[in-house]
Amino acid sequence: HPNRPPADGATPAMAQWYAAKAAHPDALLFFRMGDFYELFFDDAEAAAEALSIALTYRGEHQGVPISMCGVPHHSHEAYLARLIRRGFRVAICDQMESPEEAKARKAPTIRREVVRIVTPGTVTEDALLEAARPAWLLALAKGGAAWLDVTSGAFETEDNPDIPALMARLDPSEIIAEDGLWPDAIEAVAPRDAARRIAAAFDVASLEGFGTFTEAELRAAAMAVDYVRATQNGRLPFLMRPVPRGTQGVLLMDAATRRSLEILRSERGEARSTLLAAVDRTLTGAGARELAARLAAPLASLPAIQARHAAVEALRAHHEWRGSLRGAMKGAPDMARALARISLERYAPRDLAALRDGLTRAEAMAGHCAGARPLPPLLADAADALVPPESPREELTRALAEQLPARFEDGGVIAAGYDGQLDAMRRLRDDARGAIAAMQMQLAEAWGVASLKVKHHQQMGYLAEVQAAPGEKLLRSPPSLPGELMPQHRQTMANALRFTCGALVELDRKLSQAAEQAQGRERAIVRHLAGLCAQAAQGITEAARAVAEFDVHAAAAELALANWCRPEMTGGADFHIQSGRHPVVEAALTRAKGPAFVPNDAELSAGQRLCLLTGPNMAGKSTFLRQNALMVVLAQAGLFVPAEAARLGVVDRLFSRVGASDDLAGGRSTFMVEMTETAAILNQAGPRSFVILDEVGRGTATWDGLAIAWAVLEALHDRLRCRAIFATHFHELTALAGKLPELRLATMRVREWKNEVVFLHSVGPGAAEKSWGLHVARLAGVPRTVLGRAEAVLHALESRARQGGGVLSEELPLFAPKPAAAPDHPVLAALATLDPDAMSPRDAQEALYRLKALL
Ligand code: ADP
Repeated sequence: HPNRPPADGATPAMAQWYAAKAAHPDALLFFRMGDFYELFFDDAEAAAEALSIALTYRGEHQGVPISMCGVPHHSHEAYLARLIRRGFRVAICDQMESPEEAKARKAPTIRREVVRIVTPGTVTEDALLEAARPAWLLALAKGGAAWLDVTSGAFETEDNPDIPALMARLDPSEIIAEDGLWPDAIEAVAPRDAARRIAAAFDVASLEGFGTFTEAELRAAAMAVDYVRATQNGRLPFLMRPVPRGTQGVLLMDAATRRSLEILRSERGEARSTLLAAVDRTLTGAGARELAARLAAPLASLPAIQARHAAVEALRAHHEWRGSLRGAMKGAPDMARALARISLERYAPRDLAALRDGLTRAEAMAGHCAGARPLPPLLADAADALVPPESPREELTRALAEQLPARFEDGGVIAAGYDGQLDAMRRLRDDARGAIAAMQMQLAEAWGVASLKVKHHQQMGYLAEVQAAPGEKLLRSPPSLPGELMPQHRQTMANALRFTCGALVELDRKLSQAAEQAQGRERAIVRHLAGLCAQAAQGITEAARAVAEFDVHAAAAELALANWCRPEMTGGADFHIQSGRHPVVEAALTRAKGPAFVPNDAELSAGQRLCLLTGPNMAGKSTFLRQNALMVVLAQAGLFVPAEAARLGVVDRLFSRVGASDDLAGGRSTFMVEMTETAAILNQAGPRSFVILDEVGRGTATWDGLAIAWAVLEALHDRLRCRAIFATHFHELTALAGKLPELRLATMRVREWKNEVVFLHSVGPGAAEKSWGLHVARLAGVPRTVLGRAEAVLHALESRARQGGGVLSEELPLFAPKPAAAPDHPVLAALATLDPDAMSPRDAQEALYRLKALL
């Protein structure tokens, strides 16, 4: 780096900095100096910019001023959070001894070590995590992937993954990849002896009991484990055994589909206005994470989906039971994340309390379930897992004090009465406190200073403080007293003097010894408790998952109370929705106190698998398309659906191409993106797939576009044989209705009222009667003169079309170079050269004037 000279001749501390930086060149180095973490040189510049904090200078090195910035140790988590969010990795270099210890061993400076690397996919602090989002670390090896969440212990693998689809499903916090497999990922090396490493990490002799993994899956898994270990200074958090996940039994959705359906993030990348936000009624962080995971990876196996629906059904039917369960879950602490911190020995008193309270609530939930049996299988399993074997709950309850301090150093973590030895030490300490008061009275009397106060001082321990005048007097003419009571001067301040004496020194020693002993004992007990928790980690993790399972199902039941229905799932090609709604649009309308959402039916079952939807812009086409795709996502995620009735055949792949699909950053034109995505559908969809497509062909000249749309529709019908809704503005396509037996026409109903267009938002049979483009143009505020002129042009065109055989006749050839309606009138020739999609309103107006001049 230009601003960082070579290390030669650095001071001892700077030499340490250089060494640590050399070991972690791609991380910002937080270098502990007293109460601050300091950053130097280029690190300082990057961090000062990212954090908007002051950049200063601290001396020179090799004639170059050392740029520096720092964050206070006590509040460093907040700064870390901001840096991590900005994509930085941070290496924490701590002081490993006190200045006194360094001095005692005659070292030139305090020993410092990098104790941890903070990266987005390996953090455990609540301040650095989103409560409702899993923090996946994704490892990509050639031909295999593995991902784990250190905060929940979840660990899964996949053989030969479709990487973009996997990325879209997981939305990982951090990616490591072998040999440039993925841009922006951190480069890692997949170890050769992967199986042995994984077996060692789980302390088993062989992986046989874990399931079947491919070599590539194991390499990816070992990469992930090695990486976590490297960031945690050699430690591993508690991890569940890896599960070979595969895509079997999962509803497949590609990245474009997820983006278009706005499942977890909106097209703008926000968490608001998403399916998740609209349906989330969970009460715990783990429940919210589980719901997000289910919506991101809905199931594709009929019995598994039905099992979830049965759980929701049971909870919906029993209000009282659901109420008491939700009562127990509300405000429940995040056990999984507390356990992760405990297993990494990076915990605070509140983490032990989180397990105590979490397990207590889980036990209460188990109690509520006892009377509710027989339970549907999923809930019965979850109920059994609520109380882990060897639960540390009782021990924690007895051991922990009611009111806990923020840090262990503050003391008072362990309740009185739990440990006899600790109680005795505390009594000694507290007795000594009483002795201080007695000492104060004794000295006040002996030294003849009534206002004397014995106070504790950080560096000097207990001292007797005396006001200036009596203090001076004590100095000038000391009283004659026994040796251990003779005042010894320690310090003179502006208006007081500090003294000690033999008796006070002795008392101070006894007191600090007692306090130290009590603290040491307390620390040992805390370690014992943390050990109990770590031993029970498997059971606690399962209990935490069980709570999340109850939370998700009870939340789904809560959501389904108001006119949502349990979908009837089948193995066939059914798709029948009665009075379906779009949950996100409906919620937005309700919030805005707007008009009520208009429910719509959909029928795509065998014999009528394809629906061709026409209607003007703004009439509700994309809402209808999306709401039907969302029915599939919701139902197969295990939730109920916003409809009066629904019968759905399980879908294997879902495709959605609705809404903006510009790829400005990627440099592909709208049309190129559209065709790439259409190609993906044509190459992958099959008879069990569900497809919604909006305006294929809109991105190119009319005839090309129509031709492509036509061919795609035929392919969907004849070759792919999927269920699909196809929205179009090409009215010519409605001619296909007679030719494709399973194609049905539908249109967004619109009414004309006093020359204005009124959107009814309801879907009816048939095709749009006329084009409403001019009405929409009026709504949008296109000037009256232009509208008037456009109307005249439209009439002229329509009458031409009638006389000359139409813009497109029933009888193809579709690919005739130009329709018969283009004789040699100059207006029509000029009109044919116009591309309305590419024109600004001003261009359009000018074009209309030019056309008029040609008449
Ligand atoms: P299109 O795709 O036809 O241009 P949209 O689906 O984007 O139209 O709908 C336009 C607007 O109409 C939506 O933002 C919504 O406010 C409203 N809307 C759509 N469908 C409905 C409906 N079923 N009930 C009520 N309002 C609706």
